Amino acid sequence: MSYNKNQKLELDIIDMTKDGLGVAKKDSQVFFVKDAVPGDKVSAVVTKVTSNVIYAKTLDVISKSKYRVEPMCKVANRCGGCKLLNLDYDKQIELKKENTLNTISKIGKFDKDLLHNYYDGILTIETKKNYRNKMQVPFVMKNEEVVYGFYAGRTHHIVEFDNCVVGFKYSDIILKIIKENIAKHNISIYDENTGEGVFREVMLRKGNSTHEISITYILNDKNVDKHMSLYQAFDTDVLTDIKDKLSHLGKDSSITSTINVNTGNNNVLFGKENIVLSGKGHIEDSIGTIRYHISPESFYQVNIEMTKKLYDKIIDYADFKGNEKVLDLYCGIGTISLYVARNVKSVLGVEIVDKAVENAKENTKLNSITNAHFICLDTSKLDTENIKKCDNTLDYDTVIVDPPRSGLDGRTLDFIKDIDPEKIIYVSCDLATLARDLDYFCHNGGKYSLKKFLNVDMFPHTMHIETVALLHHILG
Ligand code: SAH
Repeated sequence: MSYNKNQKLELDIIDMTKDGLGVAKKDSQVFFVKDAVPGDKVSAVVTKVTSNVIYAKTLDVISKSKYRVEPMCKVANRCGGCKLLNLDYDKQIELKKENTLNTISKIGKFDKDLLHNYYDGILTIETKKNYRNKMQVPFVMKNEEVVYGFYAGRTHHIVEFDNCVVGFKYSDIILKIIKENIAKHNISIYDENTGEGVFREVMLRKGNSTHEISITYILNDKNVDKHMSLYQAFDTDVLTDIKDKLSHLGKDSSITSTINVNTGNNNVLFGKENIVLSGKGHIEDSIGTIRYHISPESFYQVNIEMTKKLYDKIIDYADFKGNEKVLDLYCGIGTISLYVARNVKSVLGVEIVDKAVENAKENTKLNSITNAHFICLDTSKLDTENIKKCDNTLDYDTVIVDPPRSGLDGRTLDFIKDIDPEKIIYVSCDLATLARDLDYFCHNGGKYSLKKFLNVDMFPHTMHIETVALLHHILG
């Protein structure tokens, strides 16, 4: 049977895509259905027909799934952020587990029945609200008024929000104050269509244990120096208003603010130039007993409660004896390197962002750690020569990798294979590239076997999931 756009039909939802669309099957066709969850029976209308999937939108829920819950956010079905807010948390976890096993078996070419033997399940979270320590929020003009919001999924349409339920507490107050002061100081808003206007986005970050806050204004201004008195006056008002408001609430935070100049007409958040307006230019936070300085340009995990569980799991999987040499690739501000340093002989961290490497070096001193070193390098340029600049032997026992979603590039894979470590610990935020790289290490002559893996639920209410895998060298 063929289906056409605008056709209405009834569908039983049996699964969910990673973008939070309900999945249904009818007449050998697969349907991806907006606003539907597994267990629902819905009446829907076809919105788009492609060669392998038909997209549809729920018109009415005929019988409600037992997994359906009332979303705790007013813009739940419109904002591109949390796609699973209308799904019970236990069901979210079940879907993430299934998705993990399916992806690793399919793309990684592992036998699914055997894979269960290596799977340690999922570490779940206590705090399902306000878990994000970072908010990145675009500002736009709407009906001649300054507004902010998040992009609706895969569009450039802004969905306004009052209070993001996963953003850190009081971020809503800070965003409103920034918005009021943009209007008060007449700062123009960037228009991505014309490339004109100044104010693009704000990035907020908060230390989980210290409650320190950093505010970064991302501005499209080639003459930022010329307009500095305006930005300083604006920032002073923002900080005064925040302090007033938070002290009414009985809260006290040390705040630092910076400008990042981004004059590029693209989707990259940060430009190259950073200017500190007030405070020390970074925040401090701690995970376990390790303290970290974090600059706005540096990567830092967004969910620290779960990051601690993740890092503890790395130590558990690595089973360090104390004499290991460790290579930590994609090390950011040295978070993992410094977390494991006291359990090993030495760690070398490699990271592409120079500010993050600067933070990592500072953090080494901050924690009086003497056996961790860092280099600023693109991992795809790793070779024996540039590693030897800071280490004269390449006898690494354990390699930890924590790459971005794209996973490991061919050069990095080959480098790890060449240095032949006994153990590889792969931390991943993307199941498909993790599976692809596990296939490289474990099959077709790869000298490793998958020993264990597990998920860490860093991003509740989204289909995103963090995974840690332990590989052992097959000796001989
Ligand atoms: N392990 C760290 C950071 C993980 S995020 C933590 O847990 O906090 C991935 C990091 O890889 C980011 O800091 C990013 O800047 C860095 N990165 C991305 N591409 C890279 C490359 N080609 N070479 C080196 N580092 C890279």
